[in-house]
Amino acid sequence: MKANGFTYERDGLTFKLADAYGFCWGVERAVQMAYEARKQFPQSKLWITNEIIHNPTVNERLSEMGVNFIEEKADGKDFSGVNAGEVVILPAFGASVHEMKFLADKGANIVDTTCPWVSKVWNAVDTHKRKDFTSIIHGKYSHEETVATASFATTYLVVKDMKEANYVRDYILNGGNKAEFLEKFKHAMSENFDPDTDLDGVGIANQTTMLKGETEALGKLFQQTMMEKFGVENVDKHFIVMDTICDATQERQDAMYKLVDDKPDIMLVVGGFNSSNTSHLQEISEDKKIPSYWVDTAERLDPASNTITHKLAHGELVTTEAWLPNRPVTIGITSGASTPDKVVEDVIDVVFATKSALQSAVSR
Ligand code: SF4
Repeated sequence: MKANGFTYERDGLTFKLADAYGFCWGVERAVQMAYEARKQFPQSKLWITNEIIHNPTVNERLSEMGVNFIEEKADGKDFSGVNAGEVVILPAFGASVHEMKFLADKGANIVDTTCPWVSKVWNAVDTHKRKDFTSIIHGKYSHEETVATASFATTYLVVKDMKEANYVRDYILNGGNKAEFLEKFKHAMSENFDPDTDLDGVGIANQTTMLKGETEALGKLFQQTMMEKFGVENVDKHFIVMDTICDATQERQDAMYKLVDDKPDIMLVVGGFNSSNTSHLQEISEDKKIPSYWVDTAERLDPASNTITHKLAHGELVTTEAWLPNRPVTIGITSGASTPDKVVEDVIDVVFATKSALQSAVSR
C-alpha cells in the first residue's frame, strides 16, 4: 500500500492508509530493547513492570519469551516476586521515581526502555520544580505515563481536557469553592495541594499521547490566565511552557485529520484498547461523524456474520452488525503508535474475507 500511494483497491473496496501510522520510533526501540534483553540474559528471570507498550500482540510475544508481568493489585504493583540480580524491564512510557528506586534498592538489573520523548517531559517537570512552579500535566491521571511524570514533580495538577482547564482558570482568576476544587481533583493532584497558593506559578507538561492541538490550547489558556492575573510584564515569573509534544503522536494525528478530510465511508482504527494515542485517533474520526471502528485485533471482525466488536473513543465496547455494506466503499485505515503492521494487515485480510462472504451470499 505504501508503494501504491497508501491506497489499495480490490473487489469494490478501496483502502486508504494514513500516511503516518503504527509503530513509532520510541515503541520500536522499546520492543527491540526488550527482545535484546531476553537474548542477553538467557538464564535470568525477566520481569516487566507493566505492558511494554499497549498492544496485546507484542505483550503476548513477550510472555511467550518468558517475560513475567508484574501484577497490579488493589494497593499497587506486586514486586514481591522480584529478587536481586533478576532483570526488570521498564516500559516505553516509563516508571515512577518510587518504582525505580525500589527496584534499584532490591538489587534488580534494570533495562530502561523509557522513550526519550517521555524523558523530555520529565525534564520539563524538573525545570518547574526547580523554579518552585506547579506542573499542570495535560493527561489522564491514571495513565502509567502520567503517573510516572507526576512522580517527578513536587507539586502537580493533572488536567484532562479544556473543560477542566477552564475550571482551573476560573479558580485562578476569581477564586471559588476550595472544597469543591479539592474534591474534583482528589485523584489528580499532589498531596496537600492548595489551589489558593499552588497556582501562582505554573508550568505545562503533557502525557505525550494527548491530542496535540488540545495541549497547545491548554498552554495558551494558562499563559493568558497568568497574564490577566499578574500583568503581561510579569508573565514569565508565573508561567513556563516547553515544547514537549512528541513528533510521532503529532504526525499520526495530522495524518488522521488528512484522512478524515477525504471523507471515507468507513474508518478502521487499529490499536490496543488501553492505548491512549489510539483512542485519540478514534476521537478525531468520531468528531467528523464518520462511522469509525476501533479494533485491537483482527479477531474482533467476524466475516461470516459481518459483525464487528469495537471500542468507542470514550470507552464503550459495542458490537455492530452489518458494518460492511455490500457496495463499493472507501475505507480509511490507521493504527496507533504501539501497533505492529502485521495486525493492520490481518484486519485488512478479514475485511476482504467479509466482502467475499457478502458476495457469495448474494450469488447463492
Ligand atoms: S508515541 Fe512518542 S513519546 Fe510515545 S513512545 Fe512513541 S515516540 Fe515515544
